[in-house]
Amino acid sequence: MKEKIELSSQKKCFGEEQSARREFLKTSAKAGSVALASMGMASVSIIGGGGIFSSLKADSKSSSNIKSNGLNEALSGKEIPSFDYAANSKEWKFKYFSFKRHPMGENDILIEILYAGICHSDLHTVSGDHHMAIYPMVPGHEIVGIVIAVGSKVSKFKVGDYAGVGCMVNSCGECEACKQSKEQYCTNAKTVFTYNSKDVFHDNAITYGGYSNNIVLSEKFAIKVSKNAQIEKVAPLLCAGITTYSPIMFSKVKSGQKVAVAGVGGLGHMALQYMVHLGAEVTCFDIIDKKDSVLALGAKEFVNVKSTRFKEFSNIFDFIISTIPYKYDINDYHKMLKFGGEMAIVGLPAPKDAPKLDSQEFLWQFQNKKIYPSLIGGIKETQEMLDFSVENNIYPKVEIISIQKLDSVYKIVAEGKADFRFVIDMKSLS
Ligand code: NDP
Ligand code: ZN
Repeated sequence: MKEKIELSSQKKCFGEEQSARREFLKTSAKAGSVALASMGMASVSIIGGGGIFSSLKADSKSSSNIKSNGLNEALSGKEIPSFDYAANSKEWKFKYFSFKRHPMGENDILIEILYAGICHSDLHTVSGDHHMAIYPMVPGHEIVGIVIAVGSKVSKFKVGDYAGVGCMVNSCGECEACKQSKEQYCTNAKTVFTYNSKDVFHDNAITYGGYSNNIVLSEKFAIKVSKNAQIEKVAPLLCAGITTYSPIMFSKVKSGQKVAVAGVGGLGHMALQYMVHLGAEVTCFDIIDKKDSVLALGAKEFVNVKSTRFKEFSNIFDFIISTIPYKYDINDYHKMLKFGGEMAIVGLPAPKDAPKLDSQEFLWQFQNKKIYPSLIGGIKETQEMLDFSVENNIYPKVEIISIQKLDSVYKIVAEGKADFRFVIDMKSLS
């Protein structure tokens, strides 16, 4: 362990230092060495009003690294420099970018990001499909990293812990939805999303996401990640995982049921794995052939939506989850639900491509079929999903990439040719 610390303090290029420090942090988290102080590092002097930073610790030997990940500024109560890749227009072209994150508060933690997943929502958001796009935009709401500083009132995390961040970084905390830990539905409309969102709790500053070396947020919105987790696969759980887990639990999918996944990409292959784990018999629908991959993940059958087989399904499924990001005919799936069956829609096509339900057909079905939208999941449920996934070894299939590959990888995701999820290794951000 000592050797690694010394490594990071030698004169090395930025990338090597980052990498050495990351290795050290990963190892120390795995070994259970939760506070850097326990590794012979000094507690730094307290700066800032009222002892806000009284529990911050720092590695005094690798000051150049500390500067690069924003720890120095965090300790001084200053805005925190952040290094990222940003899109400057709806074109999927990314460039190196830097900006400052808000200073740490007493309930905040500073995370050095290790990995960030690429969600199809990132493509939609950069393109302006979902809401107004604000450029420069740093996407990324599937984030995992190491806690490198904690405010004095933080109780959930210690320096050296793994932490995850999903689609939200704050909300009002007072409304009915927030009190039920369904912060994504904050009825005061104060949910602050991880990027491309106004942070009403920090002077309406625009939020920047996880294609970045760090992030600062309230501990309430960060998810604890076990030291046993396969850390390079955790990031996609923070969006793809919770977005599918939540409706599956809501609809009480159980053993013996016949269920389906429409659109088996990043979200869909997580839905498949959760439902297989619960003992359901899963049929997968997609537009390109993914038969081998989905059968390997436990699906009962793969059906290409362009095949004649697709039209053969009728009144059969207890539950269907649609993750389709483009235009499709939702009535095809409505017909497939059996009496009392439920369909969750999580795919969010651009408004012009939104699925159009035949309401006449729906009203006169006489089968009590239900169709509902679902948005990510609350913080409490996200923690539950993460613990459940790690405990049961349910992870996304990931391909690790360097951040410089973003432009080309976005095209691969748009074409549905990803081997389920791309994950950026933030070591490459140098
Ligand atoms: P991916 O691109 O990884 O997966 C989408 C899959 O759907 C691809 O395999 C795609 O294949 C397939 N598909 C496309 N068209 C059809 C079709 N007509 N019939 C069947 N399958 C089809 O995307 P993600 O899983 O990352 O995201 C999916 C959607 O979920 C996006 O719209 C995203 O914005 C949304 N989302 C919603 C959230 C929520 O909270 N509700 C949270 C996160 C994401 P191909 O590309 O070949 O067409
Ligand atoms: Zn997402």
